[in-house]
Amino acid sequence: MRLIFENSVAGRCGFKVAPAGVAPAHLPEKKYVRARPPELPEVSEVDVVRHFTNLSRLNFSVDTNFYPLGSCTMKYNPKFAEKIAAMEGFTDAHPLLPQLSGGGILAQGSLEVLYQMDKLLSEITGMAAFTMQPLAGAHGELTGVMLIAAYHKHNGARRKYVIVPDSSHGTNPASAAIAGYEVIVIPTDKNGYMDMQEYKSKLTEEVAAVMLTCPDTLGIFNPKIKEIADLAHGVGALMYYDGANLNAIMGKCRPGDLGFDVVHVNLHKTFGTPHGGGGPGAGPVGVCEKLLDFLPISRVVRRQDGTYMLDYTKRKTIGYIAPFYGNFGVILKAYAYILFLGKSGLIEASETAVLNANYCRASLKDRYESAYDKPCMHECVFSASRQTEHGVHALDIAKFLIDRGIHPPTIYFPLIVKEALMIEPTETESRETLDAFIRIMIEIARLAQTDPERIKEAPLTTPVKRLDETKAARELDLCWKSKS
Ligand SMILES: *Cc1c(COP(=O)(O)O)cnc(C)c1O
Repeated sequence: MRLIFENSVAGRCGFKVAPAGVAPAHLPEKKYVRARPPELPEVSEVDVVRHFTNLSRLNFSVDTNFYPLGSCTMKYNPKFAEKIAAMEGFTDAHPLLPQLSGGGILAQGSLEVLYQMDKLLSEITGMAAFTMQPLAGAHGELTGVMLIAAYHKHNGARRKYVIVPDSSHGTNPASAAIAGYEVIVIPTDKNGYMDMQEYKSKLTEEVAAVMLTCPDTLGIFNPKIKEIADLAHGVGALMYYDGANLNAIMGKCRPGDLGFDVVHVNLHKTFGTPHGGGGPGAGPVGVCEKLLDFLPISRVVRRQDGTYMLDYTKRKTIGYIAPFYGNFGVILKAYAYILFLGKSGLIEASETAVLNANYCRASLKDRYESAYDKPCMHECVFSASRQTEHGVHALDIAKFLIDRGIHPPTIYFPLIVKEALMIEPTETESRETLDAFIRIMIEIARLAQTDPERIKEAPLTTPVKRLDETKAARELDLCWKSKS
């Protein structure tokens, strides 16, 4: 596609500014008047509409296609939440609205949303309180590990290590390292669980925290989770819950009850707000009682008279983690989503997500090698190892799916599964959509045996075909150059 600048014709214009009716003001030339006109495209309205509509049609999105991208929980983003987030009372609010008589008189509604969301997330996860500031899951992890570090420091404990299993998301060890810890990686045993022998041998009084995803990135719920938490607490370490997979357990069990001390929640995954190309995320962090005083400021508190205010009392706060109060629009959409679904709706969402994943798992397990052959939670992980025997890799399968109008599942993650295909259908997909996906996956398995080249040449329907990804990364060329 051409850039809109390339469609520019000198003098063409899509709109007119009404005459001001006053004499033009004289601006001091050198200081304020630009020497050259800005290089804006000169196009008509229809040029603009077509350009951006056609661009949007190149997008793969939850609104256009099935999107079983494991670990990302790409569920449908209900449009009523957009409508609520677009209400003027919210969009016209400014984070610097005057703090009248103790704070926030002009922003009571927004403060109430933040306050109530704190309560709702605390109830769903079993934590004492949340900060809404972190701007994504990874940012929540960093915040959480910083809270853990502040807690240990306050208690005079010098601790060096954070334990993560080898199935963990890369952001877990990265967050621990950025917060100043050394990372100990525990291998996964043959059943898909963190190796307990290895875990016990590494767990010492020098461990600050154990970071777990539960159910983990293999889509498996570890039945020993309580024992793992008890052992960690036994040496004074804290338990961190990576909430990316919360969509599997809403209303069924709560991280707080399982023994976790710090939790992040990806609102853009579990609570139906857009992410990826669709918008920014939010990664609120919840803590148990003993970490309350360390939470970032400001905090929204409710006064005796029922009004809300921002509390900047420092206690032992780790300070600011993000400007103002987090990605408010995202928090608001997630708040609307939770209220709309209610308790029974959230439970049903988790149940259906798990059912859909198991439906895919059971329908495909004769054609694809299961990473661990047992019922899964909200996502199922296969290996393309059988297809690899015919020269067809997970990457080839992903590319072929694009030609069939399906967003590829996550591939090559978790790292411990060779040729991993990680499928997360989410609860918002119908039986018909799942069946169509399964038919295509079965067709791919058959083609891998009979005509592997056909898969390896995909995608054929996209604006750019198979790329040399190494070259694209090494010789990055993102700059548009004028032909003139
Ligand atoms: C998505 C994800 C993260 C990181 O969350 P972001 O919101 O993308 O920063 C961490 N852990 C797991 C398991 C994830 O799936």
